[in-house]
Amino acid sequence: MRPLPRHSLAHSDGRRLLVYGELRGSLDEKGPAAAADGAEIHKRMDVFTETWVGIAPARNTRPLDSPAEIEDRDGCPFCPGGIEVPFSYDAAVFDNRYPSFRPDAPPAPLLDGRTGPARGRCEVVLYTDRHDASFGELSPTELARVVAVWVDRGCELWADPAHAYVCVFENRGAEVGATIAHPHGQIYALDHVPPVTAAKSEAHLRHRRREERCLSCTATRADDCSDRIVSTNESFVVAVPFAARWPFEVTVRARRHGLRRLADLVPEEQRDLAVALRDVTRRYDALFDFQLPYMMVAQEAPHDQPDWHLAFELYPLYRAPGVTKIRASVETGLGLFLNDVAPEDAARRLADLDVPAEPIELDSLFAVTQPDAAVLS
Ligand SMILES: [Zn+2]
Ligand SMILES: [Zn+2]
Repeated sequence: MRPLPRHSLAHSDGRRLLVYGELRGSLDEKGPAAAADGAEIHKRMDVFTETWVGIAPARNTRPLDSPAEIEDRDGCPFCPGGIEVPFSYDAAVFDNRYPSFRPDAPPAPLLDGRTGPARGRCEVVLYTDRHDASFGELSPTELARVVAVWVDRGCELWADPAHAYVCVFENRGAEVGATIAHPHGQIYALDHVPPVTAAKSEAHLRHRRREERCLSCTATRADDCSDRIVSTNESFVVAVPFAARWPFEVTVRARRHGLRRLADLVPEEQRDLAVALRDVTRRYDALFDFQLPYMMVAQEAPHDQPDWHLAFELYPLYRAPGVTKIRASVETGLGLFLNDVAPEDAARRLADLDVPAEPIELDSLFAVTQPDAAVLS
């Protein structure tokens, strides 16, 4: 694998900027004006579901909430010369200016219910400095770099004892709240295990107790033999889940027992993951012939959960051209999803699409070199 140097810089407001690859500039002493300090962020416990809710009022004042503004490359804060990275770059990660969770979270306010500090970390991952691209349009080298960056961030964030869960994700499209069109994803590191993850972990434990085997192994084998397959490779099964909640929902799940997190990926699996995710996003764009908005969420194993396979879940927002799937009353109020598209039909339609699949060579993969050549501004 090719070495991918990581350079650690700091904005004048204290936020970290990690530049991966060649370092082609430095940060201005002045830097961007500090965002609101986020003193109001905290967590509140919903006593009825016994789950935390993040409260982050400052996020509402984000300056870039107008879609007209964000499409415009000139006003893009993620392009070279923008406020986040003033120089050209290969890939970069920085602390979100408007975090919902932060390492130095302020004390939780004393209120008439249970509260907690919003401890954690919110990072933004810039896939490339090319504004007019998307995950599916990344070159093999750019894709390989993104996977190496995910592995690097995963290693560091999971190793921090302050974090109980780490989630790599992407919101693509204004409809799912991506206020900036520049190709990017995000990472949240949390001080607690979120509820859907906790429920999945419990299911794995119960399956192990009852069946004496791994739930993810069982599900992956079932997907692999089903008519819900979208595409497949040696390391990952790409299928519409048996009980898909969203029309055209797709899960990319590791075949190998023991591949629990991004950091467990061997080189062949890194390549196969990049190919599989690129394939799904290309199928999404070909499905209705426009850039389909989607949510893409990595599912890494929580601590102490040996039966768990690394997966990426993708939930696109449309069920037909011009018809969005709304998370409506029953879904929101009861958590009962109603899906208008049979998973087998969704899989057939996605699988029948013809999308390019240029190979990613093993020797084009990257491994981040640590410790970084620390260049602090
Ligand atoms: Zn841009
Ligand atoms: Zn397994």
